[in-house]
Amino acid sequence: MDVLNFINGAFCPPADGMWLDNTDPATGAVYGRIADSCADDLSRAVAAAKAAFPAWSALAPAQRAQPLRRMADLIEVRMEEFARAESRDNGKPVALARAMDIPRAAANLRAYADAIIDTVDGVSANDRSESIIVRQPLGVVATISPWNLPLLLFTWKLAPALAAGNCVIAKPSEVTPATAFMLAELANEAGFPPGVLNILHGRGAKIGAAITAHPDIAAISFTGGTQTGTAIYSAAAPQLKKVSLELGGKNPTIVFDDADFDAAVAGAATAAFANQGQICLCGSRLFVQRGIYERFRAAFVEKAQAIAIGDPLDDGTQHGAMVSKDHMEKVLSYIALAQAEGGTVLSGGKRRLLNGRCAEGYFIEPTVIEGLPQACRTNSEEIFGPVVALIPFDTEDEAIAMANATEYGLAASVWSVDDARAQRVAAQIDSGIVWINCWNLRDLHTPFGGFKKSGVGREGIFDSLTFFTQPKTITRPRKAA
Ligand code: NDP
Repeated sequence: MDVLNFINGAFCPPADGMWLDNTDPATGAVYGRIADSCADDLSRAVAAAKAAFPAWSALAPAQRAQPLRRMADLIEVRMEEFARAESRDNGKPVALARAMDIPRAAANLRAYADAIIDTVDGVSANDRSESIIVRQPLGVVATISPWNLPLLLFTWKLAPALAAGNCVIAKPSEVTPATAFMLAELANEAGFPPGVLNILHGRGAKIGAAITAHPDIAAISFTGGTQTGTAIYSAAAPQLKKVSLELGGKNPTIVFDDADFDAAVAGAATAAFANQGQICLCGSRLFVQRGIYERFRAAFVEKAQAIAIGDPLDDGTQHGAMVSKDHMEKVLSYIALAQAEGGTVLSGGKRRLLNGRCAEGYFIEPTVIEGLPQACRTNSEEIFGPVVALIPFDTEDEAIAMANATEYGLAASVWSVDDARAQRVAAQIDSGIVWINCWNLRDLHTPFGGFKKSGVGREGIFDSLTFFTQPKTITRPRKAA
């Protein structure tokens, strides 16, 4: 499979003829090539987007909503193909891609198609003036997205940008480009005019950096690591580009003595290990109140050991491969670091070698560690793998203090049947989202994003449409009655 760029409604190879390998992380085998795009590809994409902008932005919102809806329908027609491609490219269980990634991609497109139709211009009046406030698209904008939820996060950015009337240069991660490439195959059939949606593949350091620096790109919506986000923020600053940054996390799960025990064990395990722990929202620090600590630890370890590790393409697999060899090695190095920092591995802790097709794949067992000091690198840095630290606590205040003792602030979950306590704790946690007795329960209308080094800005129906537009106030004197 050659993953080609999509520029001005047509597929094209990289202008300078450079390619990258595309690797299946479950087998370690190279199964295709990816365009390693360069500045010439970007110039062509920006020129196409600029040319398409006047007509696209002039369409009524209901007209722009149509291709978004059609694209969602077409994804659903090819649901199984998309799910298998996502699983192969990323290593995630196909069951997860089927249940979450691909349906959510379609839902993203529909949600913004609906929202843009419902958007109304604002009005204001006083005794001297009357104004209307219209929100206008920015022009050519860019989206840069990561590898962990490839199509889900790709469409989460594209949909509001397009719905609002912008033309887009979208860069998926070079590590997982397959489903973005497949999405491009649907763009013309869905009815997007040429140039409205352009997709450039390749390395972040090359095409990603060129996109960030391009003077004709008005805004960058980025999801990825905090270090990359910081580099993009500073590169965009001299041009005063609008920037939205959804970054890393080191999220706490807090389980109180009075929690529904079975629900908390299951919820904390899902929070720790879903998608092999490669979701920015994963709960990698698990605080458990002392009264239930021993019992919880035993049940949690049992749960971790029962997770079915296997070929991502098997329907029964719950835990697939890490996204790449490099990432597997990074996560294994953190497990070694945890032990050096005084932690004891209660479960997992190793690369899992499978037989058959996946013998060379990049699998890591769900790993539970205890005994780490609160202030250590393992408990501070984002590992982004199936690794969770168990930490006992005595009081509510202690749990809150430890949960907040990180430079990140993306998400948290609190488990207690005492709603007043859960609400009180939620109010004091420094993070953009706090779940009570659940994890990763998303309402696309709510703001999504991080406190502290987890991000700048918010995404969500209202917030993303706000980001991808700018308000204009048109005022005239009020006519005498
Ligand atoms: P990276 O920051 O490495 O990459 C994210 C994207 O940025 C990729 O498309 C990457 O390209 C690109 N990129 C890399 N360097 C540059 C650069 N200098 N200029 C422009 N673009 C660049 O993150 P990962 O892909 O490793 O994703 C994991 C991270 O994403 C984790 O930290 C995770 O927490 C975070 N994340 C945050 C979420 C949130 O909503 N807050 C949601 C999901 C993930 P390429 O891969 O091709 O190099």
